[in-house]
Amino acid sequence: MEYQASDNIRAKKSLGQHFLTSVDIARAVVSAGKVTADDTVLEIGPGKGMLTRELLSTGAHVIAIEKDSECIPYLYTEFDSHIQSGQLKVIEGDVRQYTPDKTPYKLIANIPYYITGEIIRTFLEREQKPSTISLLVQKEVAERIARSKKESLLSLSVKAYGAPKYIKTVKAGSFFPKPGVDSAILAIYDISGDFFADIDEKEFFTMLHTAFGEKRKQIGKTLRNLIPEEKLPIDRTTRPEDVSLSTWKEILLLMHK
Ligand code: SAH
Repeated sequence: MEYQASDNIRAKKSLGQHFLTSVDIARAVVSAGKVTADDTVLEIGPGKGMLTRELLSTGAHVIAIEKDSECIPYLYTEFDSHIQSGQLKVIEGDVRQYTPDKTPYKLIANIPYYITGEIIRTFLEREQKPSTISLLVQKEVAERIARSKKESLLSLSVKAYGAPKYIKTVKAGSFFPKPGVDSAILAIYDISGDFFADIDEKEFFTMLHTAFGEKRKQIGKTLRNLIPEEKLPIDRTTRPEDVSLSTWKEILLLMHK
C-alpha cells in the first residue's frame, strides 16, 4: 500500500527526514513492538504521522516528540480528535532533551539514522528504560546488533540490557525521499538493568571501551592494566569481538578477586 503525501512539507536533510510511504512497513514496526491498547508509546519524530496513525489504531496512548516545527501544525490538524480525547500528545522539541515521566512505556520510531546509536544507548542506560524498543535503522546496524557472530561495542551494549531481534529488511523505496541505504526493523525485547545487579555499570563499559579501543589487539594485552593475563578465564590471545557478554561479566568479576 502506498501513501501519497498531500501536504507541502519538504523533507529536510538536516533533520534526517525520510518519511515512510509504506503502510505495511509502518504496521510491521508497530507489530514488532507488540503494541496493545494498554501501552504507552513514546514516538520520536512523528513527521507527517505515518507511524503515529498505526500506533493510534492499536488503541495505545502515544507521546510524539517532533523537532521540526513545520510538522507540528500538520500533526495537530491530522490528529485533532486523538489529541482532544487525550490518546495522543504532541510535543515540539528535541528528544535528546526529553525524559519520559511515565513508565512503563515502549519506544517505537522511525528516527534519523545519524542519531540511532545515541538514541539506543541513552534510552537503555537511563533510569526510566522503555520495556520494548522497535526502530527502523540502517540495515547494517541491525545486522551488527542482532545477527553478527562478531560482537561490537554496540551489540554488547544492547545485549547487556535486552534481547535484540532482526525483524525484517526494508527496501529504500519504502521511504520518501529514498535513503541511500537499505533499512531494517530492529526490536529489543525484555529491557531491564538486571545484568548490572551484581556489577558496576560504569566499570563494565570502561572495560569494554578499553578492549574495543584496540579492536584488533588481543585482550591479554589491552586489559593488562586491569587484570593479569593468568587470571583471564579465556585465552589471552582472544580478540574482543569474539568474547561473549557473559564472559565479559566473568572477567569483570575476576578483576575483583
Ligand atoms: N516517523 C515519520 C518521520 C520519519 S523521518 C515517518 O516514518 O514517516 C525522522 C523524523 O524525526 C523527522 O520528522 C524529523 O524532523 C524528526 N527528528 C529529527 N531529529 C529529531 C530529534 N532530535 N528529536 C525529535 N525528532 C527529530
